[in-house]
Amino acid sequence: MAGVNNGQQLRVYNSLGRRMEDFAPSADIVGMYSCGPTVYSFQHLGNMRPYVFADTLRRALRWKGIAHRQVVNITDVGHAVADSDTGEDKLELAAARERRSVEEIANFYTKDYLEALTALNVLPADVYPRASEYVPQMIEFAARLEAKGYTYVLPSGLYFDTSKSPGYGTLALLDIEGQREGARVEHVEGRRNKSDFALWRAEEPGVRRVMRWDSPWGWGAPGWHLECSVMSMSLLGDHFDIHTGGIDHRELHHVNEIAQSEAFLADGKPWVRYWLHNEFVLLDSQKIAKSAGHTLRLADLVAAGYHPMAYRLFLLGGHYRSQLDFTHAAVDGTQATLRRLVTRVAALRPLPAVETLADALALVPDDDDVTTDYVAQLDAAISADLATPRILAILQESLRDAALTQAGERVVVAAADALLGLGLDRLEAREVEGRRSVSDLDASEVETIERLVAARTQARKEKNWPRADEIRTELDTLGVQVTDTPTGPSWELR
Ligand SMILES: [Zn+2]
Repeated sequence: MAGVNNGQQLRVYNSLGRRMEDFAPSADIVGMYSCGPTVYSFQHLGNMRPYVFADTLRRALRWKGIAHRQVVNITDVGHAVADSDTGEDKLELAAARERRSVEEIANFYTKDYLEALTALNVLPADVYPRASEYVPQMIEFAARLEAKGYTYVLPSGLYFDTSKSPGYGTLALLDIEGQREGARVEHVEGRRNKSDFALWRAEEPGVRRVMRWDSPWGWGAPGWHLECSVMSMSLLGDHFDIHTGGIDHRELHHVNEIAQSEAFLADGKPWVRYWLHNEFVLLDSQKIAKSAGHTLRLADLVAAGYHPMAYRLFLLGGHYRSQLDFTHAAVDGTQATLRRLVTRVAALRPLPAVETLADALALVPDDDDVTTDYVAQLDAAISADLATPRILAILQESLRDAALTQAGERVVVAAADALLGLGLDRLEAREVEGRRSVSDLDASEVETIERLVAARTQARKEKNWPRADEIRTELDTLGVQVTDTPTGPSWELR
């Protein structure tokens, strides 16, 4: 748009090609599809990261004045246990376990999921389609693939023949010969290639599914991968710009989505141009997952006295492509950081309404270069593949900067929060109580802090300022205050 300053070029890390790229929208309204939850249980803490990450991306688009439309699917059918092609449906298993209908299960856990999104201040998606409402379209989609010769039928269903998909597995950097020897490969009688996957899962003889549809391949249910291709194209058009999800999807689910979608469209164009994936949250250095027996969820944190925004701040304190180690000490730290932040910011309220860079720049007082510079720094940080740790560091620095006027501070805080979404315009300090002292830390927490402090000292010695900043933010997140003295750094909890 002429006359509007949208700042630096937004750059993102595209998993397709594994490189940083300029984000160049292909449409007036950018289509964005984010793989959503399978609603058979509560979402654990790690499950929520993809949505906070996608929310950050949306805030970046909004900041740049890029209109967009986001779809987040609700998987209420088709997702078999262990992400496999055969076996029981996750929803049906949960219904049997909880003695409720599949609809009740889906509705209950969908509601819980949406409430967690609200608590985390995630901007609502434009549409939350349910897979069960798109089964006729999925059958049509699979029939077209069959007509084009991409499939074959086994007693267990209709399979996509991945050997007929040129470039299969590019996203995952798969080597087509040696691929898929991993644990997730199950044995399917008659499957031609290990990577082939079910488009339609037929009922086993004598086993009647609860959720079942008639199809050219018999009664059964759609394969899990199919729904995302069908719902995204139905709601965003054949091609769209952005697809997001957790890093585990990069290796299988998204690979299969691409294969079937490009076979379906057959127009020689990449189906989706930008694939963005967030890393995991680790609990005790393991992926927080149901299979590991951990089910810690946002409601547990809230019951333990933490504010959901403390968890959001914990997530934003790491770059979305870095693994995060979840510990209670870490969230204690972010809760303390948040409390200090809110206490400091409360004096500046009411904050001006800022959503975009243009909004922020329009509010900068005349000739106030200090404020302009901070806003430019925020823009540079979000433009550099959504560097939220850097944004937090800039925000903290601005609040200590005597050269910034109060009017300028208001603009900087409102601008930073347009990107962070912490609710700094309304959060009250009393909502984020809680305090720890060094004596509450256990040996491993102390060890972690000392390791980080040493790494920061080393980074400073090497004049690696970005790294030192990153560690500083991490220490901030843990609630650790480092003071540099002539004899070396010392630290304390704030
Ligand atoms: Zn998906």
